[in-house]
Amino acid sequence: FKPVNDRLGHAAGDRLLVVVAERLKRALRLTDSVARLGGDEFVILLSGLAHAEECERRLHTVMESVAAPYTLDGERVLVTASIGYTLYPDDEADADTLLRHADQAMYAAKQAGRNRFHGFDAAEERARQLRREQCGELLLALQRGELTLFLQPKVDMRLGTVVGAEALARWQHPERGLLSPVHFLHLIEGHTELQMRFGEWVVDTALQQIARLMAQGLELPVSINITPEHLHRRGFADWMALRLAQHPAVPARLLAIELTESAALYDIDHVARELTRLRALGMQISFDDFGTGYSSLAYLRRLPMDHLKLDRSFVAGMLGDAGDRAIVQGVIGLAHSFGCGIVAEGVETVEQGLALLQMGCHHAQGYCIAMPMPVEQFMDWAKAWQAPAPWRATSQAAAPVPPAAAIAA
Ligand code: C2E
Ligand code: CA
Ligand code: CA
Repeated sequence: FKPVNDRLGHAAGDRLLVVVAERLKRALRLTDSVARLGGDEFVILLSGLAHAEECERRLHTVMESVAAPYTLDGERVLVTASIGYTLYPDDEADADTLLRHADQAMYAAKQAGRNRFHGFDAAEERARQLRREQCGELLLALQRGELTLFLQPKVDMRLGTVVGAEALARWQHPERGLLSPVHFLHLIEGHTELQMRFGEWVVDTALQQIARLMAQGLELPVSINITPEHLHRRGFADWMALRLAQHPAVPARLLAIELTESAALYDIDHVARELTRLRALGMQISFDDFGTGYSSLAYLRRLPMDHLKLDRSFVAGMLGDAGDRAIVQGVIGLAHSFGCGIVAEGVETVEQGLALLQMGCHHAQGYCIAMPMPVEQFMDWAKAWQAPAPWRATSQAAAPVPPAAAIAA
């Protein structure tokens, strides 16, 4: 409408509106309603539709009648309609909401290139609404202190020592009980505020826990998981430095971050820069779920890293599957040639641990060692843990044979 108003004046624009309104009336049935809301926006109420296809067929007729040429002051004028619609009772909302939904759909029709119609997706909207509610609930849970970090130990299987821990988020939900991250972590994706609050809570809580461990004489590095989205934010390393400064009693070398290969996959320059800064602060960097991503070696070489974490799917498969075993062997070799450490994830049996030891991987984490647990429990556990005898035996086997025994042999 705007070009018509600009070119032929408002009076011509008004006449055009009248003609459009008449055409709309003609394209509709007696039982339908049409109203002008304002400007060049009309609302149509189609009643007695048998199904969604019938609605679209009739809207098609409306579009065609609007799109036929007009003559104004001897000039030929073309206008098109962009239509958004919603169907009641699929979209079970009150009149105002239905109108808003149709408006939202009309916006989508315009975005898609005008001269078309677009249906409002009630199911999608319900899903969005549910997500909004759940995000609100999670924000509230953070404020109420319902979230906690469990610690899962990382050990040296051969020496029988605890070498660190991974902090894993849990939600102590008042009704649903203890929730693992699969139930709530997806909510922070694409939600900037939650992302920031959650990230801050994780770092602060981990630093507090490290301080508690230190007070018990346990100087152990604790690693936290970082989402790719968070890592990609500008000033990530500065932000981390600020968090560390809030906990001056905790040395940065006791805080490690775990990130997935895919987190580093795009904007490698940014990631390399941020990671280098974290390292300069004294922090350690681990690559999580290693072996499941698609990054090339040339690419990874550019990133500073202290540990690779061998993905648990390979550990699970390695005793029965030669391919998995080859990957395990390959990743261990890779870690050695990159000069970084390796930690096997998801070690569930003594046999798996033994096989890893034989392949040269000494550090591990998994249910066979311990489940993730609250920090108080972790402190007692760490003081009491002993490696299974078969793992300890490999340490003796690897020790240099005393000369006397060699002679006797
Ligand atoms: P992840 O980083 O790969 O963490 C390891 C997951 O494997 C944990 O699940 C842990 O409980 C589980 N696990 C440990 N040992 C074993 C084992 O022997 N067998 C099996 N089958 N599983 C084992 P969890 O705690 O449910 O965490 C799932 C994922 O959620 C984590 O995967 C991590 O990506 C994410 N996550 C957890 N906490 C945080 C957090 O604080 N921040 C962020 N950004 N992500 C987190
Ligand atoms: Ca992890
Ligand atoms: Ca992992």
